[in-house]
Amino acid sequence: MPHADPAQPATLDHAVSLHIVTPLLRSTSYSARLGRSVWFKMEALQPPGSFKARGIGHACRIYKARGATHFVSSSGGNAGIAVAYGGRLLGVPVTVVVPETTSAAARERIAAEGAELVVHGRAWSEANEHALSLMKPDYAFIHPFDDPLLWEGHATMIDEVAAAGVKPGAVVLSVGGGGLLCGVLAGMERNGWHDVPVIAAETVGADSYAASLAAGAPVALPAITSIATSLGAKSPCTEAVAWSARHPIASEVVTDKQAVGACLRFLAEHRIVVEPACGAALAALEREPAAVMAASDVLVIVCGGAGATAEQLQAWDREACMI
Ligand SMILES: *Cc1c(COP(=O)(O)O)cnc(C)c1O
Repeated sequence: MPHADPAQPATLDHAVSLHIVTPLLRSTSYSARLGRSVWFKMEALQPPGSFKARGIGHACRIYKARGATHFVSSSGGNAGIAVAYGGRLLGVPVTVVVPETTSAAARERIAAEGAELVVHGRAWSEANEHALSLMKPDYAFIHPFDDPLLWEGHATMIDEVAAAGVKPGAVVLSVGGGGLLCGVLAGMERNGWHDVPVIAAETVGADSYAASLAAGAPVALPAITSIATSLGAKSPCTEAVAWSARHPIASEVVTDKQAVGACLRFLAEHRIVVEPACGAALAALEREPAAVMAASDVLVIVCGGAGATAEQLQAWDREACMI
């Protein structure tokens, strides 16, 4: 068992939200370079390291209120960390099943939140199958992106931006399975931002959303070949693709090298480490897409991610084989 953190109550009442209100920064350096106001919504500062605290925290609260006695997740990434964190604060036991390929750092982080960690199978699909086999009638399975409860929770980040009095002319964010996109779009709609275009950023080799937009329906990639593993859903959720018929969405696909370079620049200028999954949005911004250059204020969701270190970013940047 990890040591109890004296500054943190062991459990919270389920009425309390499991995410924090994050800062909204007008970046001096990015604004100067792009010649317009660039606003960063700093989801990297959520206690479990990413925006997933919002949607997963909300889903965990609702499932507990509906009687769930146990949460199960099969993500070795930020979703698994967020479920473990949410379960600890709500006093609900959590089991996270991960494949053998999950890094030691991620395993430690999940275990440090007090979750039971089960290592099963070579690939995520095997871990996921095992996780589903552990389900009992009063257990809740927490999906990493395809659940309306997650979208409802993610939408609160847009409520906070609107409450701060900022209405951007464009929103830039990263897309994996599309949960963040669905949540941000729900938040935009309910705050009256119907006409504000969204730039959906991915990396080459994790660009299932770009492929799906082109096809007009969810398309599955044969394999994920990008280092941005948090974007590595082989296909996006149906709802994420359906949104493109209801809201202006433009796709930007960047290389791993560009995503890592954008992380290092963000680290140098804002002193915060984010994953290449988040660097994809920063790199997409730097490519100055038309919707960004038509806006006087641009909102970038700095989604974060606990799966990178400064050393790892520098090592990726040095790898000569990278495109
Ligand atoms: C999960 C995640 C994403 C992608 O979010 P989806 O909801 O799957 O589209 C992007 N960045 C980070 C850091 C994440 O953890």
